[in-house]
Amino acid sequence: MHERDTAAAALETVAGAARPYLTSLDERLVHDHAADALLDLLDGDLSERGEGTLDSVERLLRVGTGTATHSSGPRFFHFVVGGSTPAAQAGDWVTSLLDQASGLWLTSPLAGRAETIVLRWLKDLFGLPASYGGVLTPSATFANLTGLACARQWWGEHHGADVTADGLAGLPRMPVLAGGYIHPSSRKALQLLGCGRDAVRVLARDDAGRVDVAAMDRALGEIDGPAVIVGNAGEVNTGDFDPIDELADLAGRHGAWLHVDGAFGLFAAASPRLSHLVKGVERAHSVTADGHKWLNVPYESGFAFVRDPAIMGRAFGAWGAPYLPAENDPQVNYNCLGPESSRRARALPIWATLRAYGRQGHREMAERHHDLALRLGGIVEDSPDLELLAPVRLCVVCFRYRPRDVPEAELDDLNRRIGQELIADGRVYAGTTIYRGMTALRPAIVNWRTTEADIDLLVSVIREIATRTSAG
Ligand SMILES: *Cc1c(COP(=O)(O)O)cnc(C)c1O
Repeated sequence: MHERDTAAAALETVAGAARPYLTSLDERLVHDHAADALLDLLDGDLSERGEGTLDSVERLLRVGTGTATHSSGPRFFHFVVGGSTPAAQAGDWVTSLLDQASGLWLTSPLAGRAETIVLRWLKDLFGLPASYGGVLTPSATFANLTGLACARQWWGEHHGADVTADGLAGLPRMPVLAGGYIHPSSRKALQLLGCGRDAVRVLARDDAGRVDVAAMDRALGEIDGPAVIVGNAGEVNTGDFDPIDELADLAGRHGAWLHVDGAFGLFAAASPRLSHLVKGVERAHSVTADGHKWLNVPYESGFAFVRDPAIMGRAFGAWGAPYLPAENDPQVNYNCLGPESSRRARALPIWATLRAYGRQGHREMAERHHDLALRLGGIVEDSPDLELLAPVRLCVVCFRYRPRDVPEAELDDLNRRIGQELIADGRVYAGTTIYRGMTALRPAIVNWRTTEADIDLLVSVIREIATRTSAG
């Protein structure tokens, strides 16, 4: 067979495997640890003559469908890991089929136009002003990097410096203020930007990390020159929110830059029932969210929005071409607006899923997951052996196993072992965190496939494992 003819056959092989794989997701273990032995089939020396296309694709499918962590199924509750809607998954295949170099208009008007359109749709979905600039990124980490790079550019300009050209030498340290909910990826972004991971001054009013707005107000008043506030919309342990509205007031009063990390929490804006949680985000200077979490688009998918689009060009467009794209300029080059150069057409799966399900589909998904989180929270509250550690705000439920006969001093160890056993068991995935000094489970519900039965199974498996673990 000639290789040109093989291209379609190879894809048909993948398509042929898709139906049995996808239909198995509801039933199969989240991870079948016994299958991990198959991973050896990936190994071996680099082939001299090549093993052939179909043989290689078949091998990859065999190993992949067996050993993957099936987080696109309905019962992966660890971290905040979304699934893939059918439209998004197929849109992602189209991205691979067309293989666009999507950084420049010249190399792909398709990708550029699609990116402009999905950014507009996303701003609409999130209630952000249409005048905001935006760029698609591989993740929320990169979106935080994008927003904070713009903040750094803005801050440097206030000091009469162009940090994109000249770096930070000779400047004071950029002041960054946040509550205790700040996500490590914002610190990582600051570390990459040369501002330093530890530049963040955390102002929290309790051990959960709730932001101390009054202390932040005072601190901003004492800072000479502009500062950056990082607000968190959706904290990973409990799904709680900083009061973005109050932080926006502070930013306005003190002339600070407000960056809001809404990796998953920004999706509250899609529902009138939940949007109060992110009130004020439309006044932020930069905003981050993830596509591969609650939008249920395949990895890698994130977005950054910036109030002043021109700053994006100054922070990222310094290739020697002084290109400042206008919001309605069809010839936008997205690699001048974000940290990447060559990049895939990650707008296509986003376009497909937003078009397929519309505003209503995304509103209903957020509300359904909120309902499921409330259901789980209710079960926990009604269970004498379970303890809810924080109110259910959105899609995360923070709790621990706490039977009456186990002394407080043993609870952390017991819950840690329950978390390990859950992962080893594989029927449902949920792991532990440390919340207010306590080891806790914190399932996040953001997968379109998840149903009430999956939530009930999570509880029964936890209880089964907990009973076994505390007896052992
Ligand atoms: C997941 C998450 C991030 C990082 O997102 P990645 O897509 O993993 O880079 C940042 N902030 C918050 C609040 C998150 O939940």
